[in-house]
Amino acid sequence: MAETLVLIELDRQRVKRPSLHAITLAQQLGGDYALLILGSGVAEAANSIISYGAAAVLVADDPALAEPLADRYASVIAQATRQQGAKRLLASSSTFSKDVLPRAAALLDAPMVTDVLALAKVDGAIAYQRPMNAGSKLATVKVDGELCVLTARATAFAMPSANGAPCLIATFAFDAASLPNEMQFVSRELRASDRPDLAEARVVVSGGRPLKDSETFERLVGGLADALGGAVGATRAAVDAGMAPNDYQVGQTGKVVAPELYIALGISGAIQHLAGIKDSRIIVAINKDADAPIFQMATYGLVGDLHQIVPQLIAAIQKT
Ligand SMILES: Cc1cc2nc3c(=O)[nH]c(=O)nc-3n(C[C@H](O)[C@H](O)[C@H](O)COP(=O)(O)OP(=O)(O)OC[C@H]3O[C@@H](n4cnc5c(N)ncnc54)[C@H](O)[C@@H]3O)c2cc1C
Repeated sequence: MAETLVLIELDRQRVKRPSLHAITLAQQLGGDYALLILGSGVAEAANSIISYGAAAVLVADDPALAEPLADRYASVIAQATRQQGAKRLLASSSTFSKDVLPRAAALLDAPMVTDVLALAKVDGAIAYQRPMNAGSKLATVKVDGELCVLTARATAFAMPSANGAPCLIATFAFDAASLPNEMQFVSRELRASDRPDLAEARVVVSGGRPLKDSETFERLVGGLADALGGAVGATRAAVDAGMAPNDYQVGQTGKVVAPELYIALGISGAIQHLAGIKDSRIIVAINKDADAPIFQMATYGLVGDLHQIVPQLIAAIQKT
C-alpha cells in the first residue's frame, strides 16, 4: 500500500531519466510512494530504481505490455492504483503520459491535473500550480475527492537522489487475457542517432523557419549541435515545413526543455515556443531582426544572418 503511485516511463527496457523527476514531487507530497513500471523483460530496469526512497517497485511484466499501447497500459495502471489504495497516481509530463494517464484517470473516475510546476496550499489543503495560456499565467488548482491523477513537469522538479535503502521489487499480477485489445502495434521507426535525448540534453540547438530545407537544417542546426555535443530541436514552423521531424518540436505543443545552454537559430520567439524553453539557464539567440521577441528572453543575442554566422561558429568550435 502506498499513498502515491509513481509511473516510471521506459524506452524499451531502459528507464527514461526525466520520468524519475516525478519522484521528487511524490517526496514533496509526503507519505509513502511506490514506483510502477510496465513492460516485457523489465527486471533490469526495475533493479535500477530500487534506491529512490520508494516503499516498493511494482512491476507489471508481460509480453502483452511489450509495446506501450495506451488502452492496455491504462487498464493495468488503474488496477495497480486501486490495489495500492493510492490517493495519487503521478508521472512526469511526456507524450507517453499524455497518451496513457487520461485514460487511467477515466477508468479510475478521478480528476486530473497536468503539468504541475509546484505545490501550494489553499484553505490548508494541498493545491497544484500549473501553467495556462502557454505559460503566461499560473493557475493554482485544488482537487476534491479521494484520488487524483497528476503529471509533473520534469524541468520543475530536481532529479531525486538514489541513496535510499534498496526497496523490495514486487510483481503486480494481472490477467493479461482480459486486457483491452482494440489497439494493435504495427511498427516502430527508430532514428539512429548518437545525439543526446532532447529532454535530457545539457545543450540544445534549435532551428526555425529560415533554415529553408532539411539538408540546410541538418548542416547548420545539426552541425552546431554536434560540435557542442548537444541535442537538436525545432520550432513548429520548421517541423510543419518538413525541415525537421515532429519529435524535434520544442514548445507548448512540443517538448519542454531546460538545458544549461539553449541556442535559437532563426527563431522569432513566439509565446508558444518560449513556453518550452523559458527554464533554460542560458539562452543564445541568432536572428537578423534586432526587434525579434526572442531577444527579450535571450541571455546573449547576436543580430545577423545565420547562414553566414553558423558555419563560422561551427568552424571556430571545431578548432578549439
Ligand atoms: C496552439 C498553438 C500551439 C503552438 N505550439 C508551438 C510549439 O510547441 N512550438 C513552436 O515553436 N511553435 C508553436 N506554435 C507556433 C508559433 O506560434 C510560431 O508560429 C512558431 O514558433 C514560429 O516559428 P519560427 O520562429 O521558426 O518562425 P517565424 O516566426 O517565421 O520566425 C522566423 C525568424 O527567423 C528570423 N530570420 C529570418 N531569416 C533569418 C536569417 N537568415 N538569419 C537569422 N534570422 C533569420 C526572422 O527575423 C524571424 O524572427 C504554436 C501555435 C499555436 C497557435
